[in-house]
Amino acid sequence: MSEIFNFCAGPAMLPKAVMGQAQAEFINWNNTGSSVMELSHRSEIYMAMAAQAEADLRELMAIPENYKVLFCHGGGRGQFSAVPLNLLASGKTADYIVNGSWSKAAAAEAENFGDINVINVRETHANGETSIVAANQWPLNPDAAYVHYCPNETVDGIEINDIPETHGVPLVADMSSTILSHEIDVTKFGVIYAGAQKNIGPSGLTIVIVRDDLLGNAQQATPCIMNYQTAANNDSMYNTPPTYAWYLAGLVFKWLKALGGVKAIAKINQAKAELLYQTIDNSDFYLNTIEAQYRSKMNIPFWLKDESLNDTFLAQAEQQGLMALKGHRIVGGMRASIYNAMPIEGVQALVDFMQEFEKVNK
Ligand SMILES: *Cc1c(COP(=O)(O)O)cnc(C)c1O
Repeated sequence: MSEIFNFCAGPAMLPKAVMGQAQAEFINWNNTGSSVMELSHRSEIYMAMAAQAEADLRELMAIPENYKVLFCHGGGRGQFSAVPLNLLASGKTADYIVNGSWSKAAAAEAENFGDINVINVRETHANGETSIVAANQWPLNPDAAYVHYCPNETVDGIEINDIPETHGVPLVADMSSTILSHEIDVTKFGVIYAGAQKNIGPSGLTIVIVRDDLLGNAQQATPCIMNYQTAANNDSMYNTPPTYAWYLAGLVFKWLKALGGVKAIAKINQAKAELLYQTIDNSDFYLNTIEAQYRSKMNIPFWLKDESLNDTFLAQAEQQGLMALKGHRIVGGMRASIYNAMPIEGVQALVDFMQEFEKVNK
């Protein structure tokens, strides 16, 4: 069997080395005679591992002391509720930037918990290109409790690289599909959150990075398991955390550190994305209509100009070991998700296949 490359948007592939290590210690972790998942989250050995994972993430992202790192349940969508519950005091409003499907869903969920101001920043140029209104043109409310946005729209393949200037209003970012893919300045954010299953580990774990001064203002009705202050006071162990996912995330953090950290992986990510976009742009067989500066480096949607070839393309790709390339049902076409764990060899194999497919079917 040829090597399998999994382009799924999430849950996504994990680094091979990490999976190998997890397999090797699956039923006997650190000579405990037990699997990590069978141990108490309050055991000394588990707590040490959990603390190390947090320390490694702090190092990777250069997270300052005045931020808490929380290991939560509930995924990205859990945070769609937790953010307004924790940050939207009564009488206040929040700005929600909408540039794709996930930011739209976040805004819709937030409406259940307070007064939301939806700001649509997506636009289409006369030439048909999809673009984004420049961040300094966004009509932000200076009195908002916070501004929420999604720097990388997983479904649409749209990325906003420049961190918006909010003039002191806390900036909240859904980084589910971009966290750890390139360096960011954490101090520009009030809250960063990410479901783990794209760029961190298996599903079931959500990372929340929250600035200290934003704790303690949760709405009365906030469930305790969604309350940032409660999580922070209890080292994310107020209830049983997703212990195995936390462990695997810790292995991924170690893997990333050994590779040279976020700066090193960002270079590889840039090279992977360029390789694929160049292949698309150099052909008149494939198409991506997002303006260059807003193209995602993690999720790359593309369309065959002749859509009647879609099923053949997908079937032949799978025969070559190129899996899960079907685009999201909302946008159709194809999508290659190429997170940190995807080696450049995987993208090269995809590009080789695309060029061969074009030659045969043109
Ligand atoms: C996948 C994804 C989500 C949803 O995550 P769940 O863990 O399934 O709730 C939210 N936001 C973004 C940007 C995503 O990519």
